Amino acid sequence: MNLTFLGAAQMVTGSCYLLETRGYKIIIDCGLFQGSKHIKEKNYNEFPFSPKDISLVLLTHAHTDHSGLIPKLYKNGYTGPVYTTNATIELCKIMLPDSGHIQEMEVERKNRKFTRAGLPLLTPIYTSEEAADCLNYFKGVEYREKFELLPGLQVCFQDAGHILGSAMIEVWVTEGEKTLKFVFSGDIGNAPEPYLEQPTCIADSDYLIMESTYGNRLHGNTSDRLNKFRDVINETFAKGGNLVIPSFAIERTQDLLYYLEILHDNKDIPPVDVYIDSPLAVEATKIFRHSFKYFNKETQDSIQRGEDPLNLPRLHFSLTAKDSMAINEIKGKAIIISASGMADAGRIKHHLKHNLWRSEATVLFVGYQAEGTLGRRLLNGDKQVTIHGEEISVKANIENIDGFSAHADQRGLLNWIQCSGTPAEGIILVHGEEEAQSDLAQKIKDQVGIEPLIPSLGETFHWNESGMTRSPKHWSADSNLKAETAEIKPMNDKNEVSSNTLNEALTDLMDKIHKLSEKERQRDNQSDALRNVLEIRELVDNKLRLTNKEK
Ligand SMILES: [Zn+2]
Ligand SMILES: [Zn+2]
Repeated sequence: MNLTFLGAAQMVTGSCYLLETRGYKIIIDCGLFQGSKHIKEKNYNEFPFSPKDISLVLLTHAHTDHSGLIPKLYKNGYTGPVYTTNATIELCKIMLPDSGHIQEMEVERKNRKFTRAGLPLLTPIYTSEEAADCLNYFKGVEYREKFELLPGLQVCFQDAGHILGSAMIEVWVTEGEKTLKFVFSGDIGNAPEPYLEQPTCIADSDYLIMESTYGNRLHGNTSDRLNKFRDVINETFAKGGNLVIPSFAIERTQDLLYYLEILHDNKDIPPVDVYIDSPLAVEATKIFRHSFKYFNKETQDSIQRGEDPLNLPRLHFSLTAKDSMAINEIKGKAIIISASGMADAGRIKHHLKHNLWRSEATVLFVGYQAEGTLGRRLLNGDKQVTIHGEEISVKANIENIDGFSAHADQRGLLNWIQCSGTPAEGIILVHGEEEAQSDLAQKIKDQVGIEPLIPSLGETFHWNESGMTRSPKHWSADSNLKAETAEIKPMNDKNEVSSNTLNEALTDLMDKIHKLSEKERQRDNQSDALRNVLEIRELVDNKLRLTNKEK
């Protein structure tokens, strides 16, 4: 049997593994590549396999870095099932169409540029409608049920404690007399997490294929975060201002409600109006309300006592744009939770526009803020920002709580490896940056006595009677598959520039020249500069065409 690492190899996003056994091809997760332009470019590449030949798909959880390319599989000819937990299906019903919508918007924006530059137009990876259609093929399973999906292939989904419905998948592969047990960890939860069980301890595995996102970090403890949350709320309300929280719509928003319920219960904060202003967050909260059976005992008990974080007494949902605008009239003593979490899109921008200039207000960040986002600029202390074309001076208090994470930290990952008492024979690290992986690998070697393997993107591991071997950058050792995929463009190497990236860079450059010369009213210089860029593009285009022919 072969296992090929088609994503999340020495990087965090794009989880996708191809398992080949007895002529069957199984995909475990099929996620979007996220992050820099260069990484996102991979989403537009052809799959290095034919989706028509895939027998079935297993999905660990709903996050789009694991699920976000599944609609593309169907668009490219896959017609089989996706097995995942019922709660994951519910979350995918809102997340995948939303992801399709984002793809459409992104392509529309790029095409505006491409049209101006006279370049061929792009089509979205998939549309919102295509994403909604493929959900009909999803088949729901429950945790802890072991079943046979194909001859020689048994699976069992176990609770990963990461987000609602998240699973680790145990996969037993039998070839001849020999059975090997693989565990695909998906993302591993950061126990104790609101609502969720601890990540399941799994015994008797041959190989763990495990995430390593925070392999070199420790998160700090929950009570410190809760105390800071309490202080921020009380200080803001003492000044009479609003507390505005940019938050990811799914899981983080519901987690905040959970913490608010605890603070409220302990009488650490006064009764408070909480507004959830994001259609996606409202939908997700509804799904949580129907997911009682997935919650840990503590949450179930408190809901039964009537202390329900998802039904706080003064919790308000705003669905329509009109609801959202009404919140802008509130001058103080409200908590406004809205998306996006990095404040670079969505309704949160309106709330920031209406509160940033007020010295009595507070903006609280509870998640990672990427370089270049409005969230990062505010955290960096910018005193003047532009929102919807309007200059806003920042007088509000800017706060940040670190360590609200749904991922286990280094300690959590090491615990998970050892908690069953019978560590696996081999550990394969995925879903992590190189530094996190090498730190974690060293710790595992020291504490567990196993030297973890770190696959590179596109690498295949082979198993037969005599053991395991590795072959970098071969999609498969199976010569048929090789012949069949030889026609298909391989994923980009780090040094390879695709024509899409190049065209984008060049149209960006042309846009900038336009803007610059408009400002300085140097029409002649503009056309000179543009002519030069067009010449460069032609040269590079020709060069690319030649290189492709040589291949
Ligand atoms: Zn995740
Ligand atoms: Zn992930």
